[in-house]
Amino acid sequence: MIKFFFRLDDIAPNMNWDNFNLAVEILKKNNIKPLIAVIPDVRDPKLLNYPANSNFWPIMRELKGNGWIIAQHGYQHLASGSGGILQIHKSGEFGGLDFEKQEIMISAGRKIMEAQAIIPDVFVAPRHSLDKNTLKALKQNHFHFVSDGIALWPFKKWGLILLPQILWRPRKGMFGLVTIALHTNTMSINDITNLEKFMGKNRKNIGDFSELMEWHKKTGFIKKFSLFFINKIFKVFWYSVFYLKFKLFAL
Ligand SMILES: [Zn+2]
Repeated sequence: MIKFFFRLDDIAPNMNWDNFNLAVEILKKNNIKPLIAVIPDVRDPKLLNYPANSNFWPIMRELKGNGWIIAQHGYQHLASGSGGILQIHKSGEFGGLDFEKQEIMISAGRKIMEAQAIIPDVFVAPRHSLDKNTLKALKQNHFHFVSDGIALWPFKKWGLILLPQILWRPRKGMFGLVTIALHTNTMSINDITNLEKFMGKNRKNIGDFSELMEWHKKTGFIKKFSLFFINKIFKVFWYSVFYLKFKLFAL
């Protein structure tokens, strides 16, 4: 059986507010509580092209009050590092940087969010760029979860719980706990219509993000142990398809 969870990426004072508001409306109408990945100190030139909304943090606090989970999405959303261990992109904000540098960036971002009365427990690395130093710095900064990883069920890695994220748009699936990361800034009207249709059709298989965070704690050892092997097989399969599709045929 499959359960889907939603995540909204690249949420910042400067963003495509029309699309964000549409996504919020659809999620609220369907009573779905997603994870929203907030950039603490946005410096990404692409995002700075959008006008800033000075009401950003009160809006985030209101959504948090409604049961939405607010994650820390990196620090400034700049590509200062490499692709990290997941190798989905070639560059990113954290992968490959030394521990001290990563720790300073993560802690600076967290402090900005804490000053706004938002205490993040989930981290989302921009462009999936993270490594062992990222997770070590996250642990030191009191995070418990990372929304990332190629797998079907959550798993523990280097002391943190990874909540896998394998889809970037709604798609059919058979089993697993699957996070769909939406980039609202660049969604077309067609994408938004499809999202609404998907939610209507699959509502019983869509959970609140907090349920996904609870899963690892609530699930017994034997179940987690067997799913660990299914995760491993799935990862080999996923990367084979990924390399064929994006690396080999792109040459
Ligand atoms: Zn991002």
